[in-house]
Amino acid sequence: MNSSEFRKRGRDMVDYIADYMEQIESRQVFPSVEPGYLRPLIPDSAPEEGETFEEIMKDVERVVMPGVTHWHSPYFFAYFPTANSYPAMLADMLCGAIGCIGFTWASSPACTELETVMLDWLGKAIGLPEQFLAGSKGEGGGVIQGTASEATLMALLAARTRVTKRLQRENPDLSEAEIIGRMVAYSSDQAHSSVERAGLISGVKMKKIQSDGNFIMHGKALKKALEADKAEGLIPMFVCATLGTTSSCSFDNLMEIGPICNEENIWLHIDAAYAGSAFICPEFRYLMKGVEFADSFNFNPHKWLLVNFDCSAFWVKKRSDLIGAFKIDPVYLQHDHQESGLVTDYRHWQIPLGRRFRSLKLWFVLRMYGVKGLQEYIRKHVRLAQEFLEFVKQDNRFEICAKVVLGLVCFRLKGSNELNKSLLQKINNAKKIHVVPCCLEDKFILRFAVCARTVESKHIAFAWKHIEELANELLNKEGEQK
Ligand SMILES: *Cc1c(COP(=O)(O)O)cnc(C)c1O
Repeated sequence: MNSSEFRKRGRDMVDYIADYMEQIESRQVFPSVEPGYLRPLIPDSAPEEGETFEEIMKDVERVVMPGVTHWHSPYFFAYFPTANSYPAMLADMLCGAIGCIGFTWASSPACTELETVMLDWLGKAIGLPEQFLAGSKGEGGGVIQGTASEATLMALLAARTRVTKRLQRENPDLSEAEIIGRMVAYSSDQAHSSVERAGLISGVKMKKIQSDGNFIMHGKALKKALEADKAEGLIPMFVCATLGTTSSCSFDNLMEIGPICNEENIWLHIDAAYAGSAFICPEFRYLMKGVEFADSFNFNPHKWLLVNFDCSAFWVKKRSDLIGAFKIDPVYLQHDHQESGLVTDYRHWQIPLGRRFRSLKLWFVLRMYGVKGLQEYIRKHVRLAQEFLEFVKQDNRFEICAKVVLGLVCFRLKGSNELNKSLLQKINNAKKIHVVPCCLEDKFILRFAVCARTVESKHIAFAWKHIEELANELLNKEGEQK
């Protein structure tokens, strides 16, 4: 493809995308394919001769689209949202074109510098304390990770190194293996599975603290666990608190947990993967009270802030904790400015070496929506969740299972788990909307998350009417059987 054909095909692709987005409602939100559906639809091996763009685009409809779950359909209410906006998509095109790999400042100065400034913009926009920002001479700073999972892992690995260095300074005879073997990290029993996984990957024991009846982790339960562990000679060194848990969007109590971590010299990481976007609205910032106690903070603009995947924003109060932890300096990555203290080499802040120019999409979205536009977007989703909540409340066959704070409603039919499993199955078999379950205190629960950028009241009303009809069918059938 030469540049003149690219001009033409680029326009074709933009048209295809705009059509897709405009007409997405008419596509079935969840596909009707069986595992292995795709292989028979395409040849066994790559073509010897190149094919045309038209041929491939035809196959997008024939091969790909039938197997797509349409996350941006306004009938998609599963998981949490994944962001999607035109400014972010356009910026991603530019990122692909520049195609630099920004592992050091010198490998593409704009890639590094725009990222540092964008993380400051974003941090300010959500009201993060000054210490997390890089500014011109701050000790903190932000970086774009691929996912919240990687951010948690980075925080845990940095904490591991920080503690090991400290203990070895105090007692040079201690071996690293000995120290790491005695380390303990904590999260609530409601934390995301990626937190447990960070423990497995890093070789640090991860313990779950029991949350309360509202799925909140408290200081008292944490304190009790770490005192018991200290008495056994273990080394508590990391706590991951969650703001906006995946199952029910509960918020751990930072005002209790934070001071304990600071007193005990324990790294406090905050996983606000979903809820963090809401802090762009001042009225939701009460939910992150106590954030100032944290060593690191993370949320995913790629979930709820209109920046397409992947863009997970991760800040640390002391960037030296990260940089010092994993430094390796082969000759081919060295450059003239690295010792000047003026530049950031993001390769030290992450697990991979290579990194894309992801701050472009953050820049485009922040500028084209403006903080106000993003606030309106969050508020609209929160309002729509309230509309759904009101519907559920009006039908006394149903119950609400967790406080509705942002865009997630956890609900179920009063009755057995089996009954609710049947309801979920009916919903997802009908494929008019898509919803996933969760488990809270051994109860099987339906999670209704406001997801799509284009979702409106009419879609919420449709979804609820549909759920009620399926519940009628289910309960009538049960009635007949009795
Ligand atoms: C979605 C979610 C994650 C995982 O996010 P990734 O970016 O896919 O790793 C982690 N924690 C919470 C609370 C989440 O909701």
